[in-house]
Amino acid sequence: MQVTFRFYEELNDFLSKQYRKVRFQHTVATNSSVKDAIESLGIPHTEVDLILVNANSVDFSYNLKKDDDITVYPKFESIDISSLTRLRPFPLREIKFILDVHLGKLSKYLRLLGFDTIYKNNLDDPEIIDVAKNEKRIILTRDLGILKHNKVTHGYWLHSQDSKKQLKEVIQRFDLKDKIKLFTRCIVCNGEINIVEKSIVISKLLPKTKENYNKFYQCNKCDKIYWEGSHYQNMLLFIKKLAIQ
Ligand SMILES: [Zn+2]
Repeated sequence: MQVTFRFYEELNDFLSKQYRKVRFQHTVATNSSVKDAIESLGIPHTEVDLILVNANSVDFSYNLKKDDDITVYPKFESIDISSLTRLRPFPLREIKFILDVHLGKLSKYLRLLGFDTIYKNNLDDPEIIDVAKNEKRIILTRDLGILKHNKVTHGYWLHSQDSKKQLKEVIQRFDLKDKIKLFTRCIVCNGEINIVEKSIVISKLLPKTKENYNKFYQCNKCDKIYWEGSHYQNMLLFIKKLAIQ
């Protein structure tokens, strides 16, 4: 049977060219859900915020009927996560992430900004989905397939392949600018880092570090020691740039 679709804003990125930014006819199986129909056009359901059928708001389980007129809107560009849940089963109270295996650099950036971020280069898709569900984490990925899985409730498809641009995307998409806490999380293991007395770590420091720095932090999980060296200064500059963009 025939229905009509119109997709708005960045949802068009997922569509084949002839369907972008126009109202178009589409053939679907009788009784298919609006969610299945949307995903069959290449759009992960996690990207969708609002669906109108014949001008009424419906959820993903709505069964399409002949000649339905469907309008689909994406999440708003910059949102407070608590307000984007029109189609989500539950809101996430605390922003936590799990990243797919290709996003190692992004995981380091997110941790550096203090965001709880699980990343391992050996997790497969079902493991990522399970951890996301159990720990209420948002999946960040460049792989659309994982976001189409039914168990996924919170996910975001990164548009860019560049890790710094990805970071910018995530900060904007989840409105994280005010939630940045630099130097609170270990970039290696995601543990929490705390200020530690120089005398406690002094035996582990290189002579130059011992000489030049007095303020130290240590990871409570892997014991890695941090100090506010040149890398920290560079990162501060990078963050400042992000914040004014
Ligand atoms: Zn650590």
